[in-house]
Amino acid sequence: MIKDNLHEINSKLPSDVTLVAVSKFHPVERLMEAYNAGQRVFAESRPQELAAKVPQMPADVQWHFIGHLQTNKLKLVLPYVSLVQSVDSLHLLQAISTWAVANSRVIDVLLELHLGAEQTKQGFSEDEIMAIISGADIPAPMKGVRIRGLMGMASNTEDRAQVEGEFARIEALYKRIKASGMEDFDSLSIGMSGDWPLAVQHGATMVRIGTDIFGPREY
Ligand SMILES: *Cc1c(COP(=O)(O)O)cnc(C)c1O
Repeated sequence: MIKDNLHEINSKLPSDVTLVAVSKFHPVERLMEAYNAGQRVFAESRPQELAAKVPQMPADVQWHFIGHLQTNKLKLVLPYVSLVQSVDSLHLLQAISTWAVANSRVIDVLLELHLGAEQTKQGFSEDEIMAIISGADIPAPMKGVRIRGLMGMASNTEDRAQVEGEFARIEALYKRIKASGMEDFDSLSIGMSGDWPLAVQHGATMVRIGTDIFGPREY
């Protein structure tokens, strides 16, 4: 039962860590079960799916986007979300800024650090993130976007030491940027169904959990 799964996770999750329910590939009825059990933050990874679900869910849901976002899909996503967790290129960051200015919005984003061993995973290197944060890579102060923190996805492996090493790496980068006095920088999104307790030990302020709440996805 979704309600029991949420209860179980919430009983173990520190109260200052945000539980993001990853609802991709699950039908709205399942999301409503979670909503009725008190869950309010949901994340989707495909623009069309997000845009279709938003009008079917209550207005007080907070939506996050966690998938690869192409710049020609911004209008399916940005009107609805409170956070884009998966900014993985400077080109995308600049396109979000342009959209936000044109639509009189400020969009909160996380920069995705390429963390796992898998080549296919998206994300910036640490140097690329530091270049953005320091402004070296950005010609003028970027309007309309607020960089709130970092997101990372650890390797999909049973090797606990490897996952732990990856979380330690993103935690160190997060703390380094925070210590530099960066304004509004307060979110570290790490941890999924298999590894979230470890992520919490490494300073996660947000965990993204799908399977442990909704069960397996049917692709
Ligand atoms: C699908 C997804 C998750 C959730 O994964 P589970 O293993 O089902 O908890 C978390 N983060 C991202 C970026 C995802 O795409």
